[in-house]
Amino acid sequence: MRKYVAEPYKIKVVEPIAITTREQRQEAIERAGYNTFLLNSDDIYIDLLTDSGTSAMSDAQWAGLMIGDEAYAGSRNFYRLQDAVRDVYGFKYVVPTHQGRGAENILSQILIKPGHYIPGNMYFTTTRTHQELNGGTFVDVIIDEAHDSQNDHPFKGNVDLDKFQALIDKVGADNIPYICVAVTVNLAGGQPVSMENLKAVKELASKHGIKVFFDATRCVENAYFIKEREPGYSDKSIAAILKEMMSYADGCTMSGKKDCLVNIGGFLAMNDPDIYQRATQLVVVYEGMPSYGGMAGRDMEAMARGIYEAVDYDYIHHRISQVRYLGEKLADAGVPIVKPIGGHAVFVDAKKFFPQIPQDQFPAQMLAAQIYLQAGVRTMERGIVSAGRDPKGNHYYPKLELVRLTIPRRVYTYAHMDVVADAIIDLYQEKDKFKGLEMVYEPPVLRFFTARFRPL
Ligand SMILES: *Cc1c(COP(=O)(O)O)cnc(C)c1O
Repeated sequence: MRKYVAEPYKIKVVEPIAITTREQRQEAIERAGYNTFLLNSDDIYIDLLTDSGTSAMSDAQWAGLMIGDEAYAGSRNFYRLQDAVRDVYGFKYVVPTHQGRGAENILSQILIKPGHYIPGNMYFTTTRTHQELNGGTFVDVIIDEAHDSQNDHPFKGNVDLDKFQALIDKVGADNIPYICVAVTVNLAGGQPVSMENLKAVKELASKHGIKVFFDATRCVENAYFIKEREPGYSDKSIAAILKEMMSYADGCTMSGKKDCLVNIGGFLAMNDPDIYQRATQLVVVYEGMPSYGGMAGRDMEAMARGIYEAVDYDYIHHRISQVRYLGEKLADAGVPIVKPIGGHAVFVDAKKFFPQIPQDQFPAQMLAAQIYLQAGVRTMERGIVSAGRDPKGNHYYPKLELVRLTIPRRVYTYAHMDVVADAIIDLYQEKDKFKGLEMVYEPPVLRFFTARFRPL
């Protein structure tokens, strides 16, 4: 049997989950239009749709809820959150938001003017949408290796400095308000960015007066990979590495639903007092008072506590190891997955899994539906459906056509990982018999959430 890093916690509360028959699952997936986002969670055994807001909170976080101060202004829990962000991330100013996209909305409105370009290390759905809504154009400056699912570069999330420089030469630094660097890169497979690269990006950006904002959503996972893979960091603590990473940014957007170990929440942080001032004006319009920004006092307390728990080595070591266990089990059986295995998820390469299905017949969407049918395991498409359409109305054809198996933090056991792996390995044995899908309903934006499909 494969060796594993056992859990650094024990179970205090349990939540029963549904065991269903294949017939029940067949009905459910048809009702859902072959879109796993539209399944009811009551019909799901193991839910790997996302690691967003699905973490199990600790007893200390639950206890923190009881000391929520629900004052409309100046809640004590806001100050606890502000202190935690200052202490762990090192930024001066913090604006709480209801989740990550709330922070993206505010940052994009403040910094982006029509005609601007925003370079980034691969797009993220909500991030790019906010940039475009403000008249900006996203430009991908990730290294080429990131687009190759079999390349095992240790820092596949790195920014290609030549691509960044080429964009500056082409459009002028005045038209680039900031570069958005995601640590880790979700859509590349949870791939990290090296400290060396973060430092170099900051140097190049500063030389041209361009700001650097991190999408810090999975920054603790990124810090773990730096500790594991980058020379000079193996003896440093996760907290010290995270702090150094953040020192190469002017600020960050954060989805607390990931690496802050909470079910809801986020923030925008920065060092520039002018940007902070404008953010406090906008947060009132879109989220709430600057001292709660769409969060309850109790939720800010849980997030403040989660910020500290997340940088505990035993926590993050187990987290990354559990994801790796699932990935290695699949890879050993020949299932094509993105390598190296990322921080929050295992990504199955659907183009290689179903080579007989053309990309515009949605191979990853079909694979996600089949994984559900096989064992009640919910996963998500990250391919052509997620990529959406360009401004002319044509599909974007992303190089990567993936199914994401996202592991919630502190929720499932290794036995659950075995169930997931066995289901996919069984499907892989009979992969040749499957055909693709056609889309029968398509919403205008972020279509992957609600689109409906029919088997061909
Ligand atoms: C989840 C996520 C976001 C958006 O955060 P929400 O809390 O879902 O609004 C932004 N960037 C990345 C990389 C994410 O994974």
